[in-house]
Amino acid sequence: MKYKRVKGTRDILPQEWILREVVIDVVRTTAYSFGYGEITTPILEEAGLFIHSVGDASDIVTKEMYTLVDKAGRDLVLIPEGTAGICRAYIESKMTVWPKPVKLFYFQRLFRYEKPQKGRYREFSQFGVECFGSQSPTADAEIISLAHTMLKKLHFSSLTLHINTLGCDACRKEYREALVRYFLSFESTLCEDCQNRLKTNPLRILDCKNPSCKQCVADAPKIHPYLCDVCKEHFQGVLGCLDVLKIPYFVDYELVRGLDYYTQTVFEFISQDLGAQGTVLGGGRYDGLIEKELDGPPTPAIGFAMGLERITMLLETKRTELPLRTIDPMLYIANFGGNTATLSLQIAQDLRQNNMNVLVDLEGKGMKKVFETAEKRNAKYLLVIGEEEEKTGIVSIRNLTTRENKELEISAIPSFFLKGDQNEV
Ligand code: ATP
Ligand code: MG
Repeated sequence: MKYKRVKGTRDILPQEWILREVVIDVVRTTAYSFGYGEITTPILEEAGLFIHSVGDASDIVTKEMYTLVDKAGRDLVLIPEGTAGICRAYIESKMTVWPKPVKLFYFQRLFRYEKPQKGRYREFSQFGVECFGSQSPTADAEIISLAHTMLKKLHFSSLTLHINTLGCDACRKEYREALVRYFLSFESTLCEDCQNRLKTNPLRILDCKNPSCKQCVADAPKIHPYLCDVCKEHFQGVLGCLDVLKIPYFVDYELVRGLDYYTQTVFEFISQDLGAQGTVLGGGRYDGLIEKELDGPPTPAIGFAMGLERITMLLETKRTELPLRTIDPMLYIANFGGNTATLSLQIAQDLRQNNMNVLVDLEGKGMKKVFETAEKRNAKYLLVIGEEEEKTGIVSIRNLTTRENKELEISAIPSFFLKGDQNEV
């Protein structure tokens, strides 16, 4: 083969799309029911947007960005995450003056130069939501409830909600110093990246995947003793609300997230079935991003993103529980001679107008092949039109499951299928 897929990218074939379509339908409908509206932002953005939002010490920015320079010399990226672009659009499209909260959801294709493995690709898709303009713990609980509701509708009961708080700038200052003191005594066992992070952004060390760093992280100080009263109260408020909503959670003191912009609440829904790629959905509050990094007005905000590939992979085993579309034809029309091929298309046209799945033999296959194809394609009914049928206008429709035949006029075919008459055969 001359050309292959670019490493880490995937082709999504029809059977996977049938599942993905259900996911998209469920999450979109659920987001609308929470008052969210859909937004699409470009896949190309300025590189600086991510350096300033996701953070210049994060893995995404330092190692994983697909950067390119366009013909006019602009530094661009294929976006590695959805939030920064939405925040840019929020400011640029003047959504800042809309009544608060402004609630947006998106489907986006993302690009990260990661080591490809199961559930981890270089091009992948996310569904995400962002809620701008509320600082209340109820906003955190509501967005978690949105995630919980849509996952429940997709028949996920075994995903665990991990939740933590990362505090605000004020509580992090002291915490940061405590972390530096702690990690300095292990400096030589940290990976090279983390040795640098010790100087630039010690909180990032907590999220390092390197085994020797992970070991040091296990005993590192946790943020909770350093939380200010406001952050403590906020976190308790969120948990209290989740209790009332009966959304089970696990307070995970080790949960930090890979992007710099998070403040206070962070959360993930984790599956036991995907190994190291167990996080299907992750999010958190980012109150400082719009004002401090993007020069927008002060705007508290919270959001989450869900990986469509991982969620679809988990749904593979639940195919039978879901209202999946079938791509098997209801009717297969074979034809022999004269104008029967055109007549077949004409019959199909009426049925397809009503969304019925009809497969027409376009090649004029022999009778044996016709039966073989109808069976392989899993067609429910077979209609064979020869010159005789064309002349008399009477055809016989065969139910391929019961093997019964029904004679009827060609003009009666639409009502046979569309009015449910076929159930009698
Ligand atoms: P992980 O810890 O697994 O790398 P992450 O924290 O980098 O995840 P986020 O940036 O929060 O992930 O993105 C949210 C979701 O997007 C993840 O929970 C996951 O479902 C999905 N996701 C992230 N990176 C990839 C990838 N490279 N390939 C496929 N899905 C991904
Ligand atoms: Mg990652």
